[in-house]
Amino acid sequence: MDYLPTIGLEIHVELKTTTKMFCDCPNNPDEPLPNQNVCPVCLAHPGALPVPNREAIEDVIKVGLALGGKINPTTKFDRKNYFYPDLPKGYQISQYDQPLVLGGALLGVRLHRIHLEEDTARLVHQSSMINDHSPASLVDFNRAGVPLMELVTEPDLHSAEAVANFAKELQLILRYLGVSDADMEKGQLRIEPNISLSEIADERGLDADKRGKLGTKVEVKNINSFRAAFSAVEYEIKRQTEVLERGEKVVHENRGWDDDKKKTVSQRSKEEAHDYRYFPEPDIPPFETEIFSPEELKTALPELPAELRDRFQKEYGFTAAQAEVLVTEPDLAKFYEQAESELKYREQDEPHAEHRRKSQALLFNYLTSDLKGLLNETGKTVADLKVQPEHLAHLADLLAEGSVMSRQAKDMLRRMFDTGDDPEDILAAEGRAVTDESALLPVIKEVIAEQPKAVGDYKAGKEASMQFLVGMAMKKLQGKSNPEVLRGLFVAELKTD
Ligand SMILES: [Zn+2]
Repeated sequence: MDYLPTIGLEIHVELKTTTKMFCDCPNNPDEPLPNQNVCPVCLAHPGALPVPNREAIEDVIKVGLALGGKINPTTKFDRKNYFYPDLPKGYQISQYDQPLVLGGALLGVRLHRIHLEEDTARLVHQSSMINDHSPASLVDFNRAGVPLMELVTEPDLHSAEAVANFAKELQLILRYLGVSDADMEKGQLRIEPNISLSEIADERGLDADKRGKLGTKVEVKNINSFRAAFSAVEYEIKRQTEVLERGEKVVHENRGWDDDKKKTVSQRSKEEAHDYRYFPEPDIPPFETEIFSPEELKTALPELPAELRDRFQKEYGFTAAQAEVLVTEPDLAKFYEQAESELKYREQDEPHAEHRRKSQALLFNYLTSDLKGLLNETGKTVADLKVQPEHLAHLADLLAEGSVMSRQAKDMLRRMFDTGDDPEDILAAEGRAVTDESALLPVIKEVIAEQPKAVGDYKAGKEASMQFLVGMAMKKLQGKSNPEVLRGLFVAELKTD
């Protein structure tokens, strides 16, 4: 029997707002000391009143607009009741039946809804003895009340690869929008796939009662990387297939991904949804989203990855793969565009179109391989760069017109990287490549006079001798010329001889 995996995603995203969701405590995920960013509101002291964070609501509206969702005209917060030590109030303020965003889609996957809630505190399980006390679980409330966006998809995914791609594209969009760093390792983007298998009819067909029926759902938690998301879904598809093939039933449950053992393990049987006894949050009245001016937020949206892929290919003649290199690294893309605007020739048309294309290609290569290599080597980021975009553009132009050879350019780039020097100043100090014919001709003639044997060999048809002659000329010019130009001059000179 063949089975079709059907996967839906629940994704939680920590928003990087200045303050927490319902109080003015700092929202600082990097706070090293526990219980520093706390107050009566996020510690749930009796009588403390929550005030919704405007920035967080605007962030969710922006995500909704970027994903083509509908902003709910009226929305409200609800209490989701459950008991757990990381939840000081005994309930989480979330959104139940009137979420901020309805619908939308990403990579062909339909979105069900996006809503806003608050994060829980962090539990730290201490396995060793502290000060002679028994092993204990400690609670750090720094994270309690941090704005958390929850995005729920329709069950439109059918493979581990689709899950990983969806998550990566969402991460990119969140970063472009500047609403979250969405770092999975830090728990800022948490993906919970629910996976079920349904039978696919073979040539004998399915029994009537099985047609179009989805199998039992299993939800997977504790996924903290794209690789883990991929592996967990793959594992779960395989596990459920084996259960069904043994003639057993898949149990409706939550399973945790064990990244060391590379398997999912049973957690607890899934509680029923109505256990949460949702009811409207009495301290925050329902509100109209119009007060957040969604139209203005929409106009102010930045260019998004899909638009950028398209524009980079059209505007700069990039391949899809080249465009992707820049799209996945927004800092690099910004640097490229700043540098590109400083290239010598702006004309799209003749006579400079060819030079411009050449400079664009060189700029791309020197940025994404050489300069990126230097960044990786030194552990620096684009923000640390001493190289100015206009200087890299100038280097690309010098290369395109043959004033600088690639070996020399690489040395120059290294120096620009270390000191921030202008390539013009480096050239003034080191000398630029000689490509002017009248300056080169005496050197060519000198070499011909000094190397009668190589000249004779070349005339007798030995092509390799030309390499030698060009090499000798380059040596006299201390490497600062263009081998192609030299070769042309030698060929012309030896023809008329
Ligand atoms: Zn607080």
